[in-house]
Amino acid sequence: MKPSESTVVLGSRSRSLGRVLASSLIVLLGAASVSVPFSGLVSCAGPGLEISSVAPTDDPLVEIVSADPRIRVRTVYATADNFVGEVLYPVSRTFIRSSAMERLSRVQDRLEAQGLGLLVFDAYRPWSVTKRMWDVVGDPDFVADPSKGSRHNRGMAVDCALVNAEGRPLPMPTAFDAFVPEARSDAALAVPELAKNRDLLIEAMAAEGFRVLSSEWWHFDADGWETKGLLNVPLETLP
Ligand SMILES: [Zn+2]
Repeated sequence: MKPSESTVVLGSRSRSLGRVLASSLIVLLGAASVSVPFSGLVSCAGPGLEISSVAPTDDPLVEIVSADPRIRVRTVYATADNFVGEVLYPVSRTFIRSSAMERLSRVQDRLEAQGLGLLVFDAYRPWSVTKRMWDVVGDPDFVADPSKGSRHNRGMAVDCALVNAEGRPLPMPTAFDAFVPEARSDAALAVPELAKNRDLLIEAMAAEGFRVLSSEWWHFDADGWETKGLLNVPLETLP
């Protein structure tokens, strides 16, 4: 990527270094958003990470409800009813990379053949929101370390569950973002229906190249996520 005032590099040699860098970077990112130039690439030790605040033109971010109105979306982070307890998104809109969107539509096809559908809670997440989650929770078991970035920041992860043909959510092992042992994607569950619904979602997603996260039944990474860059494009600026 060409160095520009919209690009920063974040080192990841150690967590403490990452935290220090992350706190200074948010200032730089803020500066970029008001068009105050800075040196472009902030060079750090180690194989740094680049974060772009420009919407990608290659494999662009698309809004899920526009791309496939059959898929239900509940943008949890646009409300205060989430694990952070504050409104994290200024608009109630959910985006994902175009290539992952095509696959998500095929998952919906598969589910509709069984009288079911997808309910999406989150997909693309600006890097600054991952940073905010880290500042509040600060536990790598629960939130992504911003010095590494999240697959959500790449627009290549989706958090979702199942609904029936009428749009009613199916019972799942836990609530979304419930950080408990039963949230593990392979947790043994006392109620067979919960395991059946969870496994049905995991199988439908896997068939189209989405891999479930072992610690969260609702989180899926699209194959090829590592080829997409980290983004800090504000949701309210996306078309
Ligand atoms: Zn997730």
